[in-house]
Amino acid sequence: MRRHRNVKIVATLGPASSSYEMIRALFEAGADVFRLNMSHGVHDDIRKRHEIIRQVEKDLGRPIGILADLQGPKLRVGVFANGSEELVEGAAFRMDLSTEPGDVTRVNLPHPEIFAALEPGTSLLVNDGKIRLLVNSCGKDFAECTVEVGGTISNRKGVNVPDVVLPVAALSEKDRGDLEFACTLGVDWLALSFVQRPEDVIEARGLAKGRAAIMSKIEKPAAVKAYDAILQVSDGIMVARGDLGVELPVYSVPPIQKRLVRGARAAAKPVIVATQMLESMIEAPVPTRAEVSDVATAIYEGADAVMLSAESAAGKYPIEAVTTMNNVAMSVEKDPTYRSVIEASRVVRRESVADGIVAAAREIAEATNIKAICCFSQSGNTASLVARERPHVPILALTPLMSTARRMALTWGAHCVITEPQDRFKGAVLAAVRAARDGGFATEEDQIVVTAGVPFNVKGTTNILRVAPCDERLISRVDPE
Ligand code: PGA
Ligand code: MN
Repeated sequence: MRRHRNVKIVATLGPASSSYEMIRALFEAGADVFRLNMSHGVHDDIRKRHEIIRQVEKDLGRPIGILADLQGPKLRVGVFANGSEELVEGAAFRMDLSTEPGDVTRVNLPHPEIFAALEPGTSLLVNDGKIRLLVNSCGKDFAECTVEVGGTISNRKGVNVPDVVLPVAALSEKDRGDLEFACTLGVDWLALSFVQRPEDVIEARGLAKGRAAIMSKIEKPAAVKAYDAILQVSDGIMVARGDLGVELPVYSVPPIQKRLVRGARAAAKPVIVATQMLESMIEAPVPTRAEVSDVATAIYEGADAVMLSAESAAGKYPIEAVTTMNNVAMSVEKDPTYRSVIEASRVVRRESVADGIVAAAREIAEATNIKAICCFSQSGNTASLVARERPHVPILALTPLMSTARRMALTWGAHCVITEPQDRFKGAVLAAVRAARDGGFATEEDQIVVTAGVPFNVKGTTNILRVAPCDERLISRVDPE
């Protein structure tokens, strides 16, 4: 089974998408990676979804990526005696550590570390930024505020404090438990919410111990500022536009998105554009023109993946949403302007042997009639470098490691194939040719480019480029052992 597009699709699973039939249908419609949201759903539900995805993977014979998204230090208010209250502009409102149920004058905010970091003049945003409170005075266990923008506040609504680097651990107790649980299940990626500093990522990596790759969600102003340092210690990036658009003016999100995507592309690390991509499809079977245009923009920018949140997790039309993304992707990638935009934004690095090999592979493919670039990759690193070239021919990533193939499900253009471990170059070329032909990428008359590293099965050794005929008899005649 082969996708006819390069950009990947991430679909969040939830109550609307937890059966075998639905998850399989989502994969068949185009979802390459499934996201398990640890903020919702108990461990038992998550475990079931994980098992189903692995079953679909087995039944369809294609590696599938699984991304567990940790909730992170999301701040929430306590509860109200009446469940909710109406806050009106100009009124006074207090947040404090008292666990008494709240009313129209106050509510519990069970985070002493936040009170310690507040200053008069700081803004508190409640309920996705719909309510805005201005801090007038504060102490170690309270903040007296004025309601600047009113609205309905209800039990356990989220609170954002955009202006402050919060002195909170990147991973709460719950996150640590969820991280261990997800790693034990065998997820491929861990997404970290509300990353503020590179140290946050390093801490999570220490706990994951190589069992999953680490994706940083960029959704705090502090993370935007420290982006280069965070990118350097992350394996992937999510442009988490939901909270980003609350913490920063919403019109600053598109330029930030462009910057984050470019940075991640240059670093050869996968980048997901997320949130509200097809929001109206939660309720309707067709998207708005603006949503289609938004998905298209992320694809023209060269993002590795576009993501569905509630559209696939809780909406009425999960399959239609994935199908829409798939269709938008195919339409954009056919456009000649797409090629020129992608090429104009390409970053070519010339720092290592592997950089030179992947650039040469792409140039040869451009200049001649090559059907695919096949690369042997242990860690996935070489395949990521090939993907950074954004070549116009398919990328076949060949690896003996299922874990690598699953992680690469997120990488632009990568079609992963599990192969036997190779120890001879000739055998490797033959395996590449067979994978290209079996996958429908090439016929016997065609040629492919093969990159590999000798000695085999060692990380980071890519040092060979071969243009190979897909006719096995020709390979046997000319290739050295
Ligand atoms: P969330 O993250 O859906 O977990 O909040 C994505 C975002 O904020 O955009
Ligand atoms: Mn978020």
